[in-house]
Amino acid sequence: MVIGGGIGGLTTALALVSRGVDVTVYERAPELCEIGAGLGVWPAPQAVYDRLGIGDKVRGLAGPWKTAGLRRSDGTYIVRIPIEDLRARLGGATIGVHRGELQALLLRSLPDGTVHTGKELVGLTQDGSSVTVSFADGTSTAACAVVGADGLRSRTRELLFGPRRLRRCRMAAWRGTASPGDDDWGDFAGETWGPTGRFGILPIAGRVTWYAAARRFSNSGGKHELLRRFGDWHHPIPDLIAATEPGQIWCDQVYDIAPLRHWSKGRVTLLGDAAHAMTPDLGQGACQAVLDAWALAEALATNDDVRGAFDAYERARKGRARIVAMVARATTNGAGEGRAAVAMRSALTQRVPLGAALSALSFVAKA
Ligand SMILES: Cc1cc2nc3c(=O)[nH]c(=O)nc-3n(C[C@H](O)[C@H](O)[C@H](O)COP(=O)(O)OP(=O)(O)OC[C@H]3O[C@@H](n4cnc5c(N)ncnc54)[C@H](O)[C@@H]3O)c2cc1C
Repeated sequence: MVIGGGIGGLTTALALVSRGVDVTVYERAPELCEIGAGLGVWPAPQAVYDRLGIGDKVRGLAGPWKTAGLRRSDGTYIVRIPIEDLRARLGGATIGVHRGELQALLLRSLPDGTVHTGKELVGLTQDGSSVTVSFADGTSTAACAVVGADGLRSRTRELLFGPRRLRRCRMAAWRGTASPGDDDWGDFAGETWGPTGRFGILPIAGRVTWYAAARRFSNSGGKHELLRRFGDWHHPIPDLIAATEPGQIWCDQVYDIAPLRHWSKGRVTLLGDAAHAMTPDLGQGACQAVLDAWALAEALATNDDVRGAFDAYERARKGRARIVAMVARATTNGAGEGRAAVAMRSALTQRVPLGAALSALSFVAKA
């Protein structure tokens, strides 16, 4: 049984189904609809989707881009990386997909009836042979094992290990998606640094998804503030903000969690953000959840007992996910604001040889 129908939970279900395991997903939301914005999917999770037979369909959700890199708010490049260099070095390029479209694809790829919506986990008890979970609607059900893929504020994690404080990061993030219409929004995918924050662009099929980050947002946090911060930055940033419907702009304070000593207890384990919520700076949270899903399915298929499988899964994934989360947090904390801080960070970044930068990216891409 999987709790949570996000990217982590649905990919876990698909990986288990591909190994002939009977699985049910219980999701709190009344329906899985297209919410959220874009996600960068790195080569390693793409390889997982290849193994699950849907790699080309996932890449079909992506948008075209030719140049990646980091820019200044006037559009000049701090680092410019042609897509061919990324492909040669990383064995593929990060693609941009819409979270809701990826979720819908995963849902379509699962047998009918796998996902039950409107089911909010509220309780969990286990003995040596099974786990019983109860839901907010008063129903309950049992399974031989449970995977908690219920995100940053995981109830499964709380029921297993007690309440855990979320770490408030010095970052607020906006996300949105817009259509270029007849405009030319270029072929760039990457991030722009300026004194009032950072702005990322990632093309997806037929649209462009974007994110913005700043130390904090004002009470409104909406389009008005975005235009105030980024309205005079390079093309197409002001157009992207202007073309995004206000209802399609998500604005959140960013949190992560301190590393957990264990992800599993008895016949219950955690996966994705529930196990290792990280800051979004490397664009790795969902990617790591996909890698967890594959490792967990493999461990369950190759171990006779559930506890042995969960041990093997933790050994395969915990160290790597911890390093990625640590680097993401350090990146977030190092992203100072203000003219001097940004100029210094840009100058330091520019001094890193491209080969070294690509090696670092390659570590993350294969993580
Ligand atoms: C600004 C921003 C940008 C990001 N960009 C990227 C990126 O480019 N690439 C990337 O890989 N990652 C990115 N991430 C991170 C990514 O969004 C998360 O890491 C990822 O969504 C985690 O997936 P998950 O399935 O573990 O959890 P979630 O997506 O949070 O899914 C959890 C699911 O569980 C359900 N649920 C919760 N509680 C219960 C309950 N009690 N009972 C039943 N169901 C429940 C929820 O409704 C939800 O559907 C970004 C994050 C942010 C904030």
